[in-house]
Amino acid sequence: MRVLALNCGSSSVKSALIDTASGRRLQEIHVENIGSEQVRLHAGAQVHDLDAGTNLQAAVDELLACYAGRFQRGNAVSTESLTSSVAAVAHRLVHGGPKFVDPTRLDDAVLGEIEQLNHLAPLHNPPALTALRSARAALPNVPHFAVFDTAFHATLPDHAREYALPADVRKRYGIRRFGFHGINHEHVARSVAAYLQIDLEKLRIICCHLGNGASVTAIEQGRSVDTSMGMTPLEGLIMGTRAGDVDPGVLLQLGRSGDIDADQLDDLLNKRSGLKGLVGTNDLREIQRRASAGDQDCELAIAMYVHRIRKYIGAYVAAMGGVDVIAFTAGVGEHSALIRRRCLERLDFMGATLDAARNEKVKLTSDAPIAVLNAPTSRVHLLAVRADEEFAMARAVAAALGE
Ligand code: ADP
Repeated sequence: MRVLALNCGSSSVKSALIDTASGRRLQEIHVENIGSEQVRLHAGAQVHDLDAGTNLQAAVDELLACYAGRFQRGNAVSTESLTSSVAAVAHRLVHGGPKFVDPTRLDDAVLGEIEQLNHLAPLHNPPALTALRSARAALPNVPHFAVFDTAFHATLPDHAREYALPADVRKRYGIRRFGFHGINHEHVARSVAAYLQIDLEKLRIICCHLGNGASVTAIEQGRSVDTSMGMTPLEGLIMGTRAGDVDPGVLLQLGRSGDIDADQLDDLLNKRSGLKGLVGTNDLREIQRRASAGDQDCELAIAMYVHRIRKYIGAYVAAMGGVDVIAFTAGVGEHSALIRRRCLERLDFMGATLDAARNEKVKLTSDAPIAVLNAPTSRVHLLAVRADEEFAMARAVAAALGE
């Protein structure tokens, strides 16, 4: 079946029309820099400038019109209208709270419930809901599904899910760990098992999703058993603009200073910390360039970034009693040979041996979405895996519809 997957961030929308049986992308469109002076829509090789300041709602309308126009022109995909050609629309929602652990068909009541979760992911859920409403209005006769990034982590065992706070406090405020990037972590786990031709049930996988947001997940028997992000996407790794793990005492200190209120603290932790806070940019390519030109601050930022990832890898090897696969995915994980190499340095003691030349040569494509990084003697499989949230979402919705 054909599923249209919509993956919305606060300033961009990625989308793909996917044939779920073959996994083929029939068409993909994305819009970037939403809300800025230069909003751009990319449809294959074509690039269209949209009106300056185009907001998310309008961007989704333009994107759907572009899909529909393509259908009407009767070329590659179909001559039918978008509504009759698409079996469902899959929307990525970052936070599903405790309730939403499966792809969920949307109606007004479900939407109302999802809206109640906005405070758990204030940067992510509200824009996705805006886009979702726009798409529902444009395609009212197609079933719309939400697919949640938290869902894959519903299997976290209690000892990995709970914070050591008093039970009444946890209960009253719904405090627990949820985990994120689950759509891609699950996709990577399945892809790796299929690629290696080993039953997923038999693999212990550590998946390092290193994009602007970043998290590491320990996957045992196909299930998430621990993950570095927590109740919100702030915990864990050093990210583009988020600090990751910080002593909670630091936050108390800042709160008590009287210089910063809760909203400013939120802004500091979500948008002004991490790599950006350390060196003024969250673009790791630039940080690598500056470090190799001798910039000490950038070298330190890379060392901190890598050290945090290595700590989580080590922790998850201990938690699972070993590891069979370490996978790198998303922008940094797929493209930065330097970061992969430094994350995997000195792990020979646990049977993980990198082939440096192979690592340097990695170039993932839609036809070759997985690359082997390990030396032939390595006991642990080391892999780079292309993130494909849109395909994973489409497949999950197709499964929910019985395909
Ligand atoms: P998002 O979480 O926004 O989807 P991505 O998965 O696209 O993010 O990853 C964005 C990050 O990937 C940025 O920090 C960017 O600098 C980094 N990145 C992209 N290409 C490269 C590269 N060739 N080398 C190093 N880092 C890269």
